[in-house]
Amino acid sequence: MSGNTDQLNDIFTKFLHGKKLFVDRQVLRPDFIPTNLPHRGTQLSRIAKIMGPVLTGTRGSNIFIYGKTGTGKTAVVKFVLNHLLKVSNQMGAPVKYCYVNCRLTGTIYRVIIKLGESVGLKIPFTGLATSEVFDRFENALELNQVLLIVVLDEIDALIKNHGDNLIYELTRVNETLKNAKVSIIGISNDLLFKDLLDPRVLSSLGEEEVVFRPYTALELKDILLERAKIAFHENVVDTGVINLCSALAAAEHGDARRALDLLRVAGEIAERDNENKVLEVHVRYAQNKIEQDRVSLVLKTLPIHSKLVLCSIYLLQKAAVENVITGDVYEVYSKICNDLNMEPLTQRRVSGLINELDISGIVNARLVNFGRYGRTKKIRLGVSTSIISSAFSDDSSIERVLTYTPAFFKKS
Ligand code: ADP
Ligand code: MG
Repeated sequence: MSGNTDQLNDIFTKFLHGKKLFVDRQVLRPDFIPTNLPHRGTQLSRIAKIMGPVLTGTRGSNIFIYGKTGTGKTAVVKFVLNHLLKVSNQMGAPVKYCYVNCRLTGTIYRVIIKLGESVGLKIPFTGLATSEVFDRFENALELNQVLLIVVLDEIDALIKNHGDNLIYELTRVNETLKNAKVSIIGISNDLLFKDLLDPRVLSSLGEEEVVFRPYTALELKDILLERAKIAFHENVVDTGVINLCSALAAAEHGDARRALDLLRVAGEIAERDNENKVLEVHVRYAQNKIEQDRVSLVLKTLPIHSKLVLCSIYLLQKAAVENVITGDVYEVYSKICNDLNMEPLTQRRVSGLINELDISGIVNARLVNFGRYGRTKKIRLGVSTSIISSAFSDDSSIERVLTYTPAFFKKS
């Protein structure tokens, strides 16, 4: 082969390889369930032991599971139940399970529709009373003589928005049914959520409790190593990259989802740059991008007056006004409201909104002593001006506010 052919082959191989870092990027997605879950053996076997009795026709105890996001709760529960279902199918045991993500499903009515569907009911999406749908669900359970395991994932979202009535009804179903049984697995990301529950509901839902602690950096490393093996081609990801993803996610709150996101986004950045390896610098970029996406989502979903308060701080900062205090922000904010034909909130309310923005890190409000003003807050943006303008770019009236010049708010 001629030198030039070698040269071209080299280029094309690199090119192809550069485009093909991933074997299968889906395995880094949060809903992928791997065939092995390192460091969750204890939780896995406890849940299996508690639910095991359904194989012999008795009910498993209700379980209340909690732990922060990304600690493997959903993955472990689905893993155990998929396996349980496989075994029960082989035996011909009448076991079914119904998985509902309460946050995504949204309303009590829709949750009950899902419960009904799991026992073969077809329920219209509107038009029936919730209690009627629940009755039909109970009848279908009894008729089909099933042992149903109901998984209510992110149950805290349901109860915060709609109360614990449904959970109460579900825990009582076993008292009326003769030929069917229901076990509930409730999963919560919010550790303080127990406080919201009625003691009666808590005692029946929490017959057993399983806690998922945050992962350490070393545990995350094991998880990532296994996943990287099936997600990427060989030699694409070095240990240094895995270590960095693990360390960053461990510093967050031991969140495996964050660790996997970092690795996936880093891989996508490397691919876009036509690299043939994922490097630590790509992980740093990924960290940045994920953080920016998070901030951007928070900004986009702010209530309108918070947006306007933030715009005021943005304008003051752009105009290089120093030592901005609440009064300055309020003055600009009032003028903006005026300009948009909106009724401004009181200064007290605006001060409260500034506090909220401060808590979420979007602005920094530092208490200082200002002589004749007494104690007041010195306010600055906590995020870059560019991220604000890009987050607000799909809202034309806010976008226009951001272009106001100092002349607009300096003249009174
Ligand atoms: P949670 O429900 O606690 O928020 P998930 O179960 O959704 O967390 O896990 C988040 C991500 O991390 C998923 O992609 C999941 O597959 C992965 N994951 C969590 N724990 C493990 C583990 N022990 N081994 C492998 N992957 C895991
Ligand atoms: Mg989950």
